[in-house]
Amino acid sequence: MKSAYDIVIIGSGAGGGTAAEYLSRFKDKGVSILLLDSGSYRTKEFFNQKEKDMTSMYYKRGGFLSKNLSVGVAAANTVGGSTAVYTGVSFRPPSSVLKEWRDDFGLSFLTDDYANSRLNEIEEQINVHELPESWDNENNSLFKKGADALGIPTKRLKINVKGCQQQGFCNIGCTSGGKQSTLEVQVPKALNNGIDFIYNAEVSYLEENKVNFKVKPAVLNTEPNKVSEGDYSISAKVIVLAAGVLNSPAILMRSLKHLNLQKDALGRYVTLHPALNVNGVQPEKIKNYRGFPKTYYIDAFSESNGYYLETSFYYPGITAKNNPGFGADHQKVMKDYNKMMSILILTHDKAEKHNRITVDKNGNPVLEYTVNPAVKASLVDALKKSVQLFFAAGCEYAVIPGSTKALLYPSDLDNLDELITDKSLSFAKSPLSSAHPQGGLRMSADETGAVDINGKLKGSKSIYVADACLFPTSVHVNPYETVMLLARYVSEQILSENFN
Ligand SMILES: Cc1cc2nc3c(=O)[nH]c(=O)nc-3n(C[C@H](O)[C@H](O)[C@H](O)COP(=O)(O)OP(=O)(O)OC[C@H]3O[C@@H](n4cnc5c(N)ncnc54)[C@H](O)[C@@H]3O)c2cc1C
Repeated sequence: MKSAYDIVIIGSGAGGGTAAEYLSRFKDKGVSILLLDSGSYRTKEFFNQKEKDMTSMYYKRGGFLSKNLSVGVAAANTVGGSTAVYTGVSFRPPSSVLKEWRDDFGLSFLTDDYANSRLNEIEEQINVHELPESWDNENNSLFKKGADALGIPTKRLKINVKGCQQQGFCNIGCTSGGKQSTLEVQVPKALNNGIDFIYNAEVSYLEENKVNFKVKPAVLNTEPNKVSEGDYSISAKVIVLAAGVLNSPAILMRSLKHLNLQKDALGRYVTLHPALNVNGVQPEKIKNYRGFPKTYYIDAFSESNGYYLETSFYYPGITAKNNPGFGADHQKVMKDYNKMMSILILTHDKAEKHNRITVDKNGNPVLEYTVNPAVKASLVDALKKSVQLFFAAGCEYAVIPGSTKALLYPSDLDNLDELITDKSLSFAKSPLSSAHPQGGLRMSADETGAVDINGKLKGSKSIYVADACLFPTSVHVNPYETVMLLARYVSEQILSENFN
């Protein structure tokens, strides 16, 4: 590691990994790059498909809750960031969202042509494609069966895998390396192009042209540290901040003594795709741990009711958390784990100023988030549709948060409007979850934006942002491709503004 670089990139996830790979292509311009990540370097040899071990990959072991405890946010703290634990569900940003971002926030560069040209390249690099139906696990086949019986159109998801062994444990690390994460694709390419990389390197605060960080001990059985533990301060012509929605705003808030930023715009307009994962119990055992966990989705209620339904497969610990109730009744339900089919409800939330990241007195991120009544209405409708789908797929009973009855049976179908209501759905009893936080350092030409439309932090001469924080509003679909698209755009601006 040198004491000064042309570019220091913070975070190796969807945004930082993409920026590192793209910028490293220009080594013939003599641009030196350092990549930093606070996570340990876990490679596929480390992953053992055991939930209790693998939650170490997650920020706060996956237990990060909003201040009012109504929503838990999952984000990874490992090399590859959340792409090391994502499922690889690959959506381009909808044209309607790009139009909104152009018209309302001044992101004029984001035409369909620009997005498609860059995403064609990115999708080819990470092998985005539709999987054959022979890969569907039983949950996917049952989801399709139920939707067909109800006359609800399903669509096939696109996934980014290569050499996938269909082991089904994508969210706790891919043991075959088949999932095309930044851990497997962009970071190795950037290393091959000669960048320096320090992991276990937690950035504490930034100054203009300076990154301050601490190198911590490596987690057991991960790649050993290449530099000694301790505090470092590295100079950089350009700093690229891509520490994700929870941490990028927090790093800037810890830096306010040293930077002259637009404070009121920092951390604001966070959206979460608030989600509930629900289960229905089939009469016989089903095998969801082989085959691919997600191949179908339903967008038929997106415009009208504000949600998507996707197939999902979660492990016993997280399923126990998702199922409502406690004690002996809860244990009885969990004994049917190997008969459970599963649906993920993803709602579209509005970008609201009061939903934000702030920091506690130690500088750690705090999420202030209130569930909007429109999201609650979407959830109530989605829960009812999920129950209908479970029974149309042959389930014996369903385990539904927000229902006044602990378990629902086919005989309850006629009474769903009374059983699942706005009132009965309590986030104190059944917290929402989010794996798709977005916003917090909004890219916008107007005063609500913390970042300008070239990706530069307003008020700074040297700091750019290249992660999910940039989203002006929710992108509505699973977000990683949009993160990569924006990171690629910001990287292009960095080159043309600084290294021509
Ligand atoms: C379980 C799960 C499943 C998902 N599935 C999908 C999916 O199928 N499809 C999809 O589109 N999206 C999915 N997502 C969401 C997607 O992974 C994220 O939207 C995307 O990775 C966000 O990119 P990012 O660069 O903003 O942050 P991340 O990818 O999270 O990267 C942030 C990086 O910054 C590092 N960091 C944090 N703080 C510091 C610090 N102080 N100093 C140095 N480094 C720091 C972290 O260790 C991390 O590596 C999923 C997410 C999760 C958690």
